[in-house]
Amino acid sequence: MPEIRELDAKTRDRIAAGEVVERPASVVKELVENALDADATRIDARVESGGTDRIAVSDNGLGMSESDARLAIDEHTTSKLQSVDDLDSIGTLGFRGEALHAIGSVARLRIETKPRGGSRGTELVVEHGDLLSCGPTGCPEGTTVEVTDLFGSVPARRKYLKTEATEFDHVARIVTGYALARPDVAISLHRDGRETFATTGDGDRKSAVMAVYGREVASSMLPVESSGGDAPLSGVEGLVSHPETNRAGREYVTTLVDGRYVTAGAVREAIVDAYGSQLAPDRYPFAVVDLRLPPGGVDVNVHPRKLEVLFAEEAEIKAGVTDAVESALSEAGLLRSRAPRG
Ligand code: ADP
Ligand code: MG
Repeated sequence: MPEIRELDAKTRDRIAAGEVVERPASVVKELVENALDADATRIDARVESGGTDRIAVSDNGLGMSESDARLAIDEHTTSKLQSVDDLDSIGTLGFRGEALHAIGSVARLRIETKPRGGSRGTELVVEHGDLLSCGPTGCPEGTTVEVTDLFGSVPARRKYLKTEATEFDHVARIVTGYALARPDVAISLHRDGRETFATTGDGDRKSAVMAVYGREVASSMLPVESSGGDAPLSGVEGLVSHPETNRAGREYVTTLVDGRYVTAGAVREAIVDAYGSQLAPDRYPFAVVDLRLPPGGVDVNVHPRKLEVLFAEEAEIKAGVTDAVESALSEAGLLRSRAPRG
């Protein structure tokens, strides 16, 4: 039997980081969420080689002082949660204080940040768990986080990255989800220096759809609106496409819960169900659908590091969503026959 030994801190960090940082898209998700939590009204995400070479997310949010920036990269440091009692009322996307620390232990992490109204910017560089430098720099208000050499210190993980095209698809899916969830924030995505899309941040969901998917898709969108429901679903709001505007990929169905971008397979199914025979099998509409849940009325189980949401009362939720989307389609005269529901 080999001798049992304690792992050193760096090895432990790298193993733990794998839980948070699986691929470039997980880095992008954490950075975009941090920007939203910092009240940004503009977020630019740039990736090179699908994010495997470089990821940079800039925001015009609250920014950080030098001492906060130093703290932010430590383990379990957060400005968002103080005790377990706050967990029930948490309003931010992050709260575990793990992301920046995890990213810094498996990549080169450079943060440039200046607090709103502050006079001093800070640049901080961490490389595979070591703080290389931290000092004053000239930069605009807000924060830019740049991640290079992802998994450079963990070849076993680097090996599992897929092609650049596949990694980019995952990144695009994430940034698109937040862009559609938050039409009030101007969000852009650049791939190898070229703009993939840029929303205006004017607050209008349809204009965000136009920026992301183009004019044709946007003009086929029908409003979904139902409110005043009882638990477990108090309302459904959003946009769904005309049945003729469809694709083979289910990634064009974006699901939100109380305005948060989530993956909810059940809700996606419920949306597709509403189209009935109007959609060929394996075809999906474009949709952005936001579920309104009564406060405290529903048990939403989200794995802390995953996007997938499970509902305690899934059948009722699904029926409510299908009803709302059916109403939207039939109001537009697009449902051939609608069986009366008893
Ligand atoms: P969490 O988001 O769970 O708090 P993170 O590791 O993602 O943990 O971030 C740690 C802290 O760093 C945040 O709580 C926040 O105070 C600060 N921070 C991170 N990103 C930004 C940003 N873009 N703008 C301002 N502050 C940030
Ligand atoms: Mg975070």
